[in-house]
Amino acid sequence: MSKQRTKLVVGNWKMHGRLAENAVLLQAVAQGAGELSADVRVGVCVPGPYLAQAQSLLSGSRVVWGAQDVSAFTQGAYTGEVAASMVVDFGASLVIVGHSERRAYHRESSELVAVKAQRVLEAGLTPVVCVGETLEEREAGSTEQVVGDQLDAVLVKLSDVEAARIVVAYEPVWAIGTGKSATSEQAQAVHAFLRSRLAAKGAAVADVPLLYGGSVKPENAEELFRQPDIDGGLIGGASLKAQDFLAICKAAGAASVAG
Ligand code: PEP
Repeated sequence: MSKQRTKLVVGNWKMHGRLAENAVLLQAVAQGAGELSADVRVGVCVPGPYLAQAQSLLSGSRVVWGAQDVSAFTQGAYTGEVAASMVVDFGASLVIVGHSERRAYHRESSELVAVKAQRVLEAGLTPVVCVGETLEEREAGSTEQVVGDQLDAVLVKLSDVEAARIVVAYEPVWAIGTGKSATSEQAQAVHAFLRSRLAAKGAAVADVPLLYGGSVKPENAEELFRQPDIDGGLIGGASLKAQDFLAICKAAGAASVAG
């Protein structure tokens, strides 16, 4: 069993938001986060155009912010791409890489995800590396093979020191945005497997935060976060409602005390 860790809750807004509604949400999250237990860290990953707004409204609060993807290139003639260094310019600290929506809709391979994780680390940011199996893969009994391969593709490109700086999010594809979360037992089993895979890379790497993502809600968050290898959550839909997102952050605090 892993030792008790600080919990980390990160919101993934996906392609949602407008300036006016973001302001209300960001201010509410910043204020609510100030009342959370010290054991909970909170972040939000916003669409790129809103990084400046996140910086302006979250600076000085306990909430950190970040992007949902970056280019595999550092700069140049790559129309439409955003470099990790540009994300740094807005005071961000997190970047999601390898989200299943990017793997599915933009055909991102695990090798590309690994290069993006490298770019994020080089820029001094923390990559939140997403892994997860489809329903077909789970039903075929290949969950460990799939998530193990996705994680290894990243770890193989990183030094031990770099690998110790990542965050990993286990997000079963069948649970994302479906309302159908993995049970705490299912999630813990995969997290324990991922933990052993990280540990094989080195003692410091074994301690990287392992987040669960996939239909986390205020009602199921505490039970998930109480699992010994679940260090917090990556939250999609529920991160768009301040009340729900803060309730999930509070559940992380309660789970951390209970652990
Ligand atoms: C996500 O997009 O990373 C996610 C976990 O979504 P949801 O919480 O809506 O399932």
